[in-house]
Amino acid sequence: LLRLRSRLAKSANPFGKALFNILTKDALTEADWEEVEDILLMADVGAEASAQLIEELRSDARVTGQRDPSAIRELLRSKLLVLLDIDKDRALRASRADAPKPSVIMMVGVNGTGKTTTAGKLARLFVAESKTVVMGAADTFRAAAADQLETWGNKVSVPVVRSDRDGADPASVAFEAANRAVEDHADVLIIDTAGRLQNKANLMDELGKIRRVTEKTVTVDEVLLVLDATTGQNGMAQAKVFAQAIGITGIVLSKMDGSAKGGIVISVQKELGVPVKLVGLGEGPDDLAPFDAEAFVDGILA
Ligand code: GDP
Repeated sequence: LLRLRSRLAKSANPFGKALFNILTKDALTEADWEEVEDILLMADVGAEASAQLIEELRSDARVTGQRDPSAIRELLRSKLLVLLDIDKDRALRASRADAPKPSVIMMVGVNGTGKTTTAGKLARLFVAESKTVVMGAADTFRAAAADQLETWGNKVSVPVVRSDRDGADPASVAFEAANRAVEDHADVLIIDTAGRLQNKANLMDELGKIRRVTEKTVTVDEVLLVLDATTGQNGMAQAKVFAQAIGITGIVLSKMDGSAKGGIVISVQKELGVPVKLVGLGEGPDDLAPFDAEAFVDGILA
């Protein structure tokens, strides 16, 4: 506790400071409770979840007579961990011993969230596991997307199947990539897609078609939704659209290297019933890490 206090006292983070101030008290006042709720809100945990957590904590405190703020913080920490379902299996399906060959991953999410970057980092990760990888540039809408994926392919020594035409049919690119992966006996196929939310019906059609056409040859066994930690509460609306459009097997929380806390994934994981699997920590090839629930919750509270 002393270590925690000294860490919070030194924290450059306003949340950490606020918690430190609360922790130095003998008991929590009404204003303190509000401050704890604000900490959750500022971390993007969401209004509903934050209010519910505070209510639970307050009623626990009433029942047990617990007044020690640091004990209450520990309780909050454990409640957040329960919400995140600490025992959830967060392994990528492609990393399982019984993964199909090729194991196929579709990257989905709103443009700009970090799909292409995450595809490149993932390719690097599999290459490091001595797996062979093919990537398919099925984001044919954005002119530079295929170039960007190709740059990643060169960086991590992975072939990229693409079309030279802007606006080519994304499903046919995915189909060719699937064939290439089969021909090459690749272990993993990663398909990058476009994510234009402006037209929901089109998005659903497009993702559905990519999946159907790809599955003429192979089976898509992972759909990773990339959520940008800096988008805050909007992440929930995005997640619902993509879950409805294609179904999701895992969440990647990108851009956690900045000041964003990414608390929205607590609600998203609950709502979709799928685990947060990975965290993006920068723009470089090695800036991808497995999601660590404890480190994540400590980030929210410190
Ligand atoms: P896409 O449109 O979803 O494919 O998004 P991009 O992969 O093109 O990423 C959009 C921008 O976010 C690019 O400038 C990336 O370098 C950047 N980016 C992606 N992931 C991360 C991350 O984890 N941290 C940071 N700091 N930047 C990221």
